[in-house]
Amino acid sequence: MSFPVRKFDAVIVGGGGAGLRAALQLSKSGLNTAVLSKVFPTRSHTVAAQGGISASLGNVQEDRWDWHMYDTVKGSDWLGDQDAIEFMCRRAPEAVIELEHMGMPFDRVESGKIYQRPFGGHTAEHGKRAVERACAVADRTGHAMLHTLYQQNVRANTQFFVEWTALDLIRNEEGDVLGVTAMEMETGEVYIFHAKAVLFATGGAGRIYASSTNAFMNTGDGLGICARAGIPLEDMEFWQFHPTGVAGAGVLITEGVRGEGGILLNCDGERFMERYAPTVKDLASRDVVSRAMAMEIHEGRGCGKNKDHVLLKIDHIGAEKIMEKLPGIREIAIQFAGIDPIKDPIPVVPTNHYMMGGIPTNYLGEVIVPKDGEYEVPVKGLYAAGECACASVHGANRLGTNSLLDLVVFGKSAGDSMVDYVRAQDGWKDLPADAGAFTAQRLARLENQTGGENVDEVRRDLQRMVQGHAGVFRTDAILKEGVDKVLEIAERVKKTEIKDKSKVWNTARIEALELDNLIEVAKATLVSAEARKESRGAHASDDHPERDDENWMKHTLYHPLTNTLTYKPVNTKPLSVDYIEPAKRVY
Ligand SMILES: Cc1cc2nc3c(=O)[nH]c(=O)nc-3n(C[C@H](O)[C@H](O)[C@H](O)COP(=O)(O)OP(=O)(O)OC[C@H]3O[C@@H](n4cnc5c(N)ncnc54)[C@H](O)[C@@H]3O)c2cc1C
Repeated sequence: MSFPVRKFDAVIVGGGGAGLRAALQLSKSGLNTAVLSKVFPTRSHTVAAQGGISASLGNVQEDRWDWHMYDTVKGSDWLGDQDAIEFMCRRAPEAVIELEHMGMPFDRVESGKIYQRPFGGHTAEHGKRAVERACAVADRTGHAMLHTLYQQNVRANTQFFVEWTALDLIRNEEGDVLGVTAMEMETGEVYIFHAKAVLFATGGAGRIYASSTNAFMNTGDGLGICARAGIPLEDMEFWQFHPTGVAGAGVLITEGVRGEGGILLNCDGERFMERYAPTVKDLASRDVVSRAMAMEIHEGRGCGKNKDHVLLKIDHIGAEKIMEKLPGIREIAIQFAGIDPIKDPIPVVPTNHYMMGGIPTNYLGEVIVPKDGEYEVPVKGLYAAGECACASVHGANRLGTNSLLDLVVFGKSAGDSMVDYVRAQDGWKDLPADAGAFTAQRLARLENQTGGENVDEVRRDLQRMVQGHAGVFRTDAILKEGVDKVLEIAERVKKTEIKDKSKVWNTARIEALELDNLIEVAKATLVSAEARKESRGAHASDDHPERDDENWMKHTLYHPLTNTLTYKPVNTKPLSVDYIEPAKRVY
């Protein structure tokens, strides 16, 4: 079967913060640019970002980009690439001011400058004291960013394909990327989007876990599509658990709440973070706070009748401040926990939140793969940015507010790289004769499969398994068993069936196709986590409790077609400053 073809200079898969920022660079340069999105762009998951975007503007207290860089390197547990980290932190003030000039309605301090709040792991003078670095629009920063970027794209004539889902990558014999296949979700029609350059900005993949702050659409499609096309995935063992998901619901309560003075209490009413992180206490890095909470619960100091959560208390900051700075949080607490934080503490537990790994890129947004002993060989025509990409600035653990920054800094630089690449092309490269055949096979399997398992059941089993085998605490045995189980589930995925096809709407097909992506992400996660015999950032192994720089200061690269790993050195050469030497990560 061959599919109809549409031609664009550039195709962006994903209409969240990263995709929209990249698209803006391309459209403003006069290139014919399509953005495909499973949801209306302003409903992309960036809309959920509450707390802020980091930049060393120094509007409230003295701050410097190199202090931000130090915090990011330390937050990453020295696994972040220091060239990319310098690139991001240096550009942060410019990126935020650019957003402001586009119309993003940041909160203000009295002088009229952009308001900034403290956040976990943000410090001055290399950890000496907390600093106010997170620029915020109340507790709806992502919402404001997305609307600002969408409006700018409309003005720049970006073409939106809303409720279209990309399915597979099209490459020629040389491996160059020539486009994607995509399905219009309403009609089920499939097209080939033939492009000179393609960018993935498909966001996170938290839905491999049973409990996640991520939206249902975060199924790791960009990673799955790349994996099926033989692109390796980097550092997939590192998943951040956010300390404060509403217990029982998984909905996120931003760290901004602790930034505004909220504190965590155990069942004895003790502010336990004073024991785990004496300097910055409740504002330690996320993995540190998550593990401290898990330890309190594990040792019987959890709250509630099942002693399975701790409490986040904010009533002492006063009703007026809660209503002014955290109105969305109050709404979430009332809706999902049934309590009003003006009067009572919110029950919270660590919940899966963010993927540090992803499609390997450099700081120019080019997708890079290892080849002939080189680690950074660009795949021609392929780019990635945002949560689905691994630049790698977050290393083993992301600092809060560095993701929104990552979206705009690397979205823009990927957009710029694509403009250069597209302009250097002499027309479109020829599509291979079998373009679209792989997608046609996948769709035919779904239509023709009989006697297989229900998609929903297999997905739930996968999510429960990943939650149990790749959670906050890990051991060799748990991970080994997880690898065996994920391979078993992968076999079941190949035989899933859409039941009663006469009655299904295309969403059932989309869910089946998404499961193909989830399984690739889950395999990469378990195989990479099982291999890493140390504790670093978000990867904490009970059998290997220490960080092991001698053997493990390196990135994992999961090769999906062979289910194997290779390794890549961490970049230790910042662009203009000295290397930040590894040290113990204490707060
Ligand atoms: C609750 C919550 C709060 C957060 N708060 C903060 C914060 O305060 N500060 C911060 O820095 N970070 C925060 N984060 C993290 C941050 O919001 C995300 O990492 C970031 O928004 C991801 O942006 P993105 O552009 O990469 O992807 P997204 O915004 O998730 O967009 C992904 C896009 O890809 C599209 N897509 C996916 N698959 C396909 C496909 N197959 N075909 C077509 N389109 C597809 C989707 O439709 C969507 O448009 C938070 C995260 C959560 C979950």
